[in-house]
Amino acid sequence: MMATLGFLAGVLAGRLVELDQVDDRLAGHNSRLLAHALRVVQESHRLMAAATHAAADCSESDIATLRVLLFNSTFIRDIGRIQDGMLTCSAAWGKLPEALQLPPPAFTLRSGLVLWVGAANIVDSRITGDMAASRDVVVFTAPGAFEGFPEPGSGIDAKIVTRDGTHAYRRYGRTHDLHLPAEGNDGYRAGAFAPERRASACAPESGADICVVSRLRSDAWFQWPAMVLSVAGALALAFLAGLCVMWRLHAGSVKTDLRKAILGGGIQVHYQPLRQLATRRLAGFEALARWRTRGRDVPPNLFVPLAEAMGLGRDLSRHVTSQALRDLHGRLRKNPALYVSINVSAADLKDAEYRNFLLDAVSERGLTPANVALEITEGTPLSDGHVLAMVKTLRAKGFKVFIDDFGTGHSNLNYLAEMQADAIKLDRRFTHAIGVEAAGTLIIDHVIAISRELRISLIIEGIETEEQARYLLARQPAAVGQGWLFGRPVPIGDIASE
Ligand code: C2E
Ligand code: MG
Ligand code: MG
Repeated sequence: MMATLGFLAGVLAGRLVELDQVDDRLAGHNSRLLAHALRVVQESHRLMAAATHAAADCSESDIATLRVLLFNSTFIRDIGRIQDGMLTCSAAWGKLPEALQLPPPAFTLRSGLVLWVGAANIVDSRITGDMAASRDVVVFTAPGAFEGFPEPGSGIDAKIVTRDGTHAYRRYGRTHDLHLPAEGNDGYRAGAFAPERRASACAPESGADICVVSRLRSDAWFQWPAMVLSVAGALALAFLAGLCVMWRLHAGSVKTDLRKAILGGGIQVHYQPLRQLATRRLAGFEALARWRTRGRDVPPNLFVPLAEAMGLGRDLSRHVTSQALRDLHGRLRKNPALYVSINVSAADLKDAEYRNFLLDAVSERGLTPANVALEITEGTPLSDGHVLAMVKTLRAKGFKVFIDDFGTGHSNLNYLAEMQADAIKLDRRFTHAIGVEAAGTLIIDHVIAISRELRISLIIEGIETEEQARYLLARQPAAVGQGWLFGRPVPIGDIASE
């Protein structure tokens, strides 16, 4: 389809290029023919003017003068004298034994110039040609004066005419329907795709009464520019279409795969420990979703937002919640102070059913709501009353609520106070700033102060080194830590029993 469109676009573009070239060729030919015709006319005028000034008596010296004039001309074959409409002598024939009657002229110009077109020669009728007369001088144009016009094989029809278009000096090809454009119209404006192209031009107003009009038909659509452009257009659009199709297929298949994984149990859950900073005792686990497809792990930062955009955020949360409770219920029952922390989205918090789902899931496993913490990303809008109401209800039922990635959003103290969360989880970028960047470290100090002020517990993400752990312990011994130093996210089978 796209290839066909590309092909057609190419054909049209090629056709325009082709016609443009034809127009150029025709305009060039037209102006060359006009320039040549003007040279012929000017030479005739020059000769007639020179002959008029000489003694016009057909004497030996007069004929000699005519011969000199003729000898120096290019387009004129003979020059003669007229008396009372009769030819009396000429450079070629000398003095005629008896004067010969001139035939009736084809037309007379406003300047008084009399013209014969393709007339039989007066002296020898075997010769035909054009003649022009002014007062008592007549010139005979050489038959080859316009040799080379129109250019052989060009297929051009042309006509040399008077400015008013009523008389034709010369015609080439099929000219009965070839006319000068309406007065004041400089040249033709053919339709962009019209196969018949025309060109016209006239001598300057002050000059000879002469115009040239030409025509060339171009019916062939598949000249080289059209062919090249159409093939290139087809290839280019086909390539683009291919890219689009591949992209769509790819995007489509990722979504299909993700839908299957979420609804068909293909999402794994890994667990990362949270530990008391002071004692390193286990406080709980964060459940983190994992998706492996086509031999590659897809980061949750990519597939979680995609799932939410596909309207599968709820299904993902419920799957992770069920899986986490199934995997951890033994440990949680053995140590009721432990909790599993689950990431939830704003959509879950607006879903009235989610609370019941959680309560059922907890009681099915013989657990209490205190065994479950819900992580809400900082910035989840509270303006929507549903979210805040749900947070309150969940806390009232005994679930813990953590504000995740604290410091990356735009929350203020008001947000924290309103949310009444159990803990804030300081984003790992601040932990990474310890000992590296003063500003980040300063923020940690502030967050510690705020959490104390609001009596909210503090969980610090991304602890990778002992140095970071020591720094944090010195400032907030009651904090809980999470990070590679305390344990990476692992499948349930890899959690050491402690
Ligand atoms: P998060 O909730 O902030 O999870 C903590 C992320 O930090 C995890 O990335 C974890 O692997 C990583 N992490 C933990 N300790 C360290 C450390 O010491 N150093 C470094 N560099 N990274 C550490 P992960 O698993 O790639 O998850 C990324 C995010 O995806 C999570 O951030 C969470 O927002 C989201 N996510 C993961 N699972 C779920 C889920 O089941 N539901 C929802 N809604 N979101 C999820
Ligand atoms: Mg989290
Ligand atoms: Mg986080």
